[in-house]
Amino acid sequence: MNKFYITTPIYYINDVPHIGHCYTTIAADIVCRYKRLCGFEARFVTGTDEHGAKMEAAAKAHGESAQEFVDKMSQTFSQAWRILNISYTDFVRTTDPRHIASVNEIVNILYKKDLIYKSKYEGLYCVGCEKYLSEKDLDENGNCPYHKTKPVVQSEENYFFRLSNFTQEILNKILNGEIKIEPEERKNEIVGKIKLGLDDISVSRAALEWGIPLPFDKSQTLYVWIDALISYLTGIGYSDDKELFNAFWPCDIHLMAKDILWFHAVIWPALLMGADLKLPKTIYSHGFFTIEQNKMSKSLGNVISPDDLVNKFGVDATRYLTVTLIPFGPDGDISWQGLISKYNSDLANNLGNLEARVLRLAEQNFDSVLAQTEQDLSLAQKTADLLNASFFGEMESLHLHKAAESLQKAITLINQQIEKDAPWNLAKTDKAALAKCLWSYLQAADIIAICLIAFMPETSQKIWSLNGANGSINEAAQKYFKDKKIVAQEFSPAGAQLSKSQILFPRIKA
Ligand SMILES: [Zn+2]
Repeated sequence: MNKFYITTPIYYINDVPHIGHCYTTIAADIVCRYKRLCGFEARFVTGTDEHGAKMEAAAKAHGESAQEFVDKMSQTFSQAWRILNISYTDFVRTTDPRHIASVNEIVNILYKKDLIYKSKYEGLYCVGCEKYLSEKDLDENGNCPYHKTKPVVQSEENYFFRLSNFTQEILNKILNGEIKIEPEERKNEIVGKIKLGLDDISVSRAALEWGIPLPFDKSQTLYVWIDALISYLTGIGYSDDKELFNAFWPCDIHLMAKDILWFHAVIWPALLMGADLKLPKTIYSHGFFTIEQNKMSKSLGNVISPDDLVNKFGVDATRYLTVTLIPFGPDGDISWQGLISKYNSDLANNLGNLEARVLRLAEQNFDSVLAQTEQDLSLAQKTADLLNASFFGEMESLHLHKAAESLQKAITLINQQIEKDAPWNLAKTDKAALAKCLWSYLQAADIIAICLIAFMPETSQKIWSLNGANGSINEAAQKYFKDKKIVAQEFSPAGAQLSKSQILFPRIKA
């Protein structure tokens, strides 16, 4: 079986999860579920980054020990992912012993190859980023461009990684596509920055207790970023299941927000080359979003949590809306108003209405059983053609919002056919024609359910069973996804018991 491996960042847990974490995680889940339907054996790793100075400070602020604090915070993440039906295969905590074992193994390899060495360093450090910044990283006011705060001058005797050794090799690999960075404009930014030259980076901290001690010098702990990146190896068995590891490494897609692209596109490949490991295939960074044109922040009180979303929209609609409201890749703006209006138009009015009216007509006129009917698959085939032409291609390119758009177009196509047929009039004049229409709508709606699985797993399953469709929806999807081609057929057989009409997505008042 073909293998597929995708990751989200190992989230830094000095605060509870918000819509930004949800965005990346739901997107990764949709891609992973899609790949499984395409016949891949897929692994999906997420987790929590639990070390570092910021974590120690946050624990202190809560009056807790660092361990107590990270145990509690890590759970808020795993809990959110359970609620959002995230199908990860491993959740790595960087305080796990198996992760510490991976870190020790990698760091020892680099040290033995003299890629890690001891030296004195003085530099500008941003505590918010947990990283040293060079002059060229700063904005026009001399501040960290992300935190808008002045970095502090920090001087330490540290261990350094010879990042500079890899400058040309990384540049070449990015330019020849061996390291694929998406989207293109961010790749160009990275290339421009590498061309300015790469300095060796400090990879350890003295006098910081809350971290993984270096195996060859316990007075220093590993820099939290290096620690976190290595979780991508831990999550597929690097330290405890080499067979699994060899089957799934290299990673197919590392998914992340743009602020941490540098670590993934430059430092991570250099560490991997240093450790003689293969490089990830695609590094995909999505944009930041603002909430009603403002940066999301606690002080502004505009932080949107996974609970807020699920309480308002339910699980499946939250999954759908989070990844489709703005294009996947560039920056965008999110508002409650925008979420509600997309919910109403895509889910309540388009998809929900389709299901409700077809089932209602079947219920009112045929007691929810279309016993004998002439079979016309032309609408289902048109639906399939539309999706075959756009849906699969967009999914393959990770254009999730466009894949969802093509689903909406397909739903609209079916609804337009219903308007044209005006089956509510046929109810009075021609029951045989009505049955034929309803049967054809059902087969088309079943195709929608099949393509919707990765986005809305529970809703898809529900539509499939409401429509009395045969067999398992997952098996039906696997059959077509393998070839990226859906062929219309009788999914909901004549004579099947349909469910009574119900409202899948109640309209929400703006
Ligand atoms: Zn910063």
